[in-house]
Amino acid sequence: MAKIAFIGLGNMGGPMAANLVKAQHQVFAFDLVATALDAAVDKGARKAASAAEAVKGAEVVVTMLPAGKHVREVYEKDVLPNAGQSALLIDCSTIDVESARHVGALAEKAGLEMLDAPVSGGVGGATAGTLTFMVGGGAPAFARAKPILEKMGKNIVHAGASGNGQAAKICNNMILGVSMIAVCEGFMLAKRLGLDAQKLFDVASTSSGQCWSLTNYCPVPGPVPTSPANRDYQAGFTAAMMLKDLMLAQQAAQAANATTPLGAEAAQLFSLFVNGGQGAKDFSGIIRMLDGK
Ligand code: NAD
Repeated sequence: MAKIAFIGLGNMGGPMAANLVKAQHQVFAFDLVATALDAAVDKGARKAASAAEAVKGAEVVVTMLPAGKHVREVYEKDVLPNAGQSALLIDCSTIDVESARHVGALAEKAGLEMLDAPVSGGVGGATAGTLTFMVGGGAPAFARAKPILEKMGKNIVHAGASGNGQAAKICNNMILGVSMIAVCEGFMLAKRLGLDAQKLFDVASTSSGQCWSLTNYCPVPGPVPTSPANRDYQAGFTAAMMLKDLMLAQQAAQAANATTPLGAEAAQLFSLFVNGGQGAKDFSGIIRMLDGK
């Protein structure tokens, strides 16, 4: 049983903290939003009056915050000045690689072990404790973190040095964003050509067009009954989140001189979709925009 500070108890952090409580850890929770904090306390976490108070005396600090600027601020103001020398720091937010490496370097300078450990699996995975963690940082820190992360996820991958967890996450999601648009275009072309969606699915799902966006998350209703297309594109994974990850991928591509023209195009298309007021819809709903709706 470890003493764990958990900062950021939103849609993802709330259920993740609840799974640590279920595993008998002592969780000291903090969030700026009182309702989020109260919900965590209802699930058995202890209320901390501030992030700094949660961090003091914690063996492990977990953060699950919206973006890089929040992570930089919380680490610089609250976590690093208050963490004990043996504390293990784990940031599970999805943020830009540069911020992750910056905060990781500050932690190293302070003599603290830190990992970037973004997740995939969404709120469903966070609740069920089946998230995938992509982890960047040193091997000893990874070995320490693994038993904790296993209480919140089932696939824990060490992706390499500091920032590589974020790199793995945005590369994966860039593939996902691009492949979803490709699948949507396939179905829209089929529609215009008078080819039934189920027939295209039957062919492509067993042919070279096969991919996760098609077989697990089909953007038209029918072929995959569990996909958001069957419930008016109620999210799953929101278009706003997909846009965030595609923008992070573009930022990283520019900084690293990588050529990612389809990633750039996907970011443009999701930006149009989100700016059209569809940010809260599932990202597969972009098929409607491609259909001219
Ligand atoms: P969220 O907005 O629901 O939760 C973030 C929480 O952080 C909020 O409750 C907010 O009040 C809190 N917060 C912000 N600044 C704070 C501060 N200074 N101190 C304390 N608390 C603070 O977001 P979420 O959906 O839980 O996502 C969290 C992270 O996980 C994001 O980086 C997101 O990209 C990533 N992610 C989300 C999903 C998803 O499906 N929701 C999936 C994978 C990864």
